[in-house]
Amino acid sequence: MADSVGTHDLVLRGARTIDPETGLDGVCDVAVDGATIIAVAEGGNHALRGHAEVDVSGLVLAPGFIDMHSHCRDYASRALQVCDGVTTALELEGGEIDVADAYLKAAAEGSPNHFGFSASWAVVRMAVCGLDVGAAADPFMEYIGDPGWHRALSRDQTPRLLDGLRRELADGALGIGVLLGYCQEASADEYLSVAGLAAEMGTATFTHVRELARPDSGIFGAAEAVTAALATGANMHICHVNSTSTRNIDHVNELVGRGRDQGLAVTTEAYPYGAGCTGIGAEFLAPDALTYQGLEPGDIRYLPTGERVSSVARLNQLRAIDPGGIAVIDFLRESDPDDLGYLMRAFLTAGTAVASDAMPLVPASGDMTEPIPWPVPPDVLTHPRTAGTFSRVLRWYVRELGLLDLTEAIRRCTLVPAEILRDLAPDMARKGRIQVGADADLVVFDPETITDRATYDEPTLTSAGIHHVFVAGIPVVRDGTLLVDARPGRPVRGAG
Ligand SMILES: [Zn+2]
Repeated sequence: MADSVGTHDLVLRGARTIDPETGLDGVCDVAVDGATIIAVAEGGNHALRGHAEVDVSGLVLAPGFIDMHSHCRDYASRALQVCDGVTTALELEGGEIDVADAYLKAAAEGSPNHFGFSASWAVVRMAVCGLDVGAAADPFMEYIGDPGWHRALSRDQTPRLLDGLRRELADGALGIGVLLGYCQEASADEYLSVAGLAAEMGTATFTHVRELARPDSGIFGAAEAVTAALATGANMHICHVNSTSTRNIDHVNELVGRGRDQGLAVTTEAYPYGAGCTGIGAEFLAPDALTYQGLEPGDIRYLPTGERVSSVARLNQLRAIDPGGIAVIDFLRESDPDDLGYLMRAFLTAGTAVASDAMPLVPASGDMTEPIPWPVPPDVLTHPRTAGTFSRVLRWYVRELGLLDLTEAIRRCTLVPAEILRDLAPDMARKGRIQVGADADLVVFDPETITDRATYDEPTLTSAGIHHVFVAGIPVVRDGTLLVDARPGRPVRGAG
């Protein structure tokens, strides 16, 4: 709280301040005490005093970006996201089999931004199928291609799957992550049962739909999620609608839009890159599956060696020896005007959040257990979306292409994800907003210079034009420099 003479912990003075909920867009002084915004003085109010005062005139002050889709676990990858303005990074698509342990570990290690985890349908399913998930550092990647879980569940296994997920939700999981597109063998009945559990528990699912894994229908996967919303009443969130819809995006937009118009709780997110990224052993990267997506092995870059996959034989070899090896896949070609159109339109549906699908970092040794230092060495590879998604939207879609205005883009990075998560994560009512009483998760940037620098060849270059980032009122980026000792990140938990 402010002390007896009214001096606050922090005052940010004179920024163009944008609150996407109230429509505030004007020059303000903003005061913070502890982790909370305590005053928003429009027109500038020089009466506000702070123990720390930062002149941010000429810059934009926005709520910190909320990333619903981050697979970053370690400090270096989370720090890349902080440098891109991400104050909350949630693992919702993949999730965890033991969320209580995941929260404990993240808190013990300390995080530069807020963190949270869903319950993992895939890993709980792997355990139900008898795979030793407890022994694996990253069980999903370890067993991504294992035939042990690539089969339909028996009648007694589905209730065990649901019980496992129910336990994680009771432990504070943020909904259920459903990597459905990685398991063709899961039945529609199983998926509807998982959605039904989400509806019963008042939570949501976050689905990687089956689109890419099916040759028979371009919108089947999205339709399955929309159908589950209709059949069960559950909140169904479709992850990275860009990469699973690719050239079917117009159909998917129509489907989701009409579903929403009729009251279905279907939400979407997208990232602004034509290439996707996952373990090379994924079902939808099998040679046959590539063929019906119009792709070739050479459209895949395998990051542990940095090579472009030269042939079907090499693809099969890599899938056999290192199924969890991280690969970047050119689903849409950013240099092709038609493909670029599909990518853009993935973003234009009202209510589509910006979400990065940020990936772990792959060291030059290829050994994923090797710790990555900060600053990140230049030979470390990942998908550039890890470091650049949010700045890229503000640079490319807003400043260069004019697809979105600045206020709308900020809304997609902040309030939209906060509202998608509000019913299942009570903390979200205070995030994504610049209002008295809101959390002091803040980003200050120059709208004329903000830019991603990460590329497919240099994917860990930090974004530029972001001057300051505050997490829970604590500076984590100051004058464009990451403060490496700052670990103010707090857990974001489900309602239980
Ligand atoms: Zn995915």
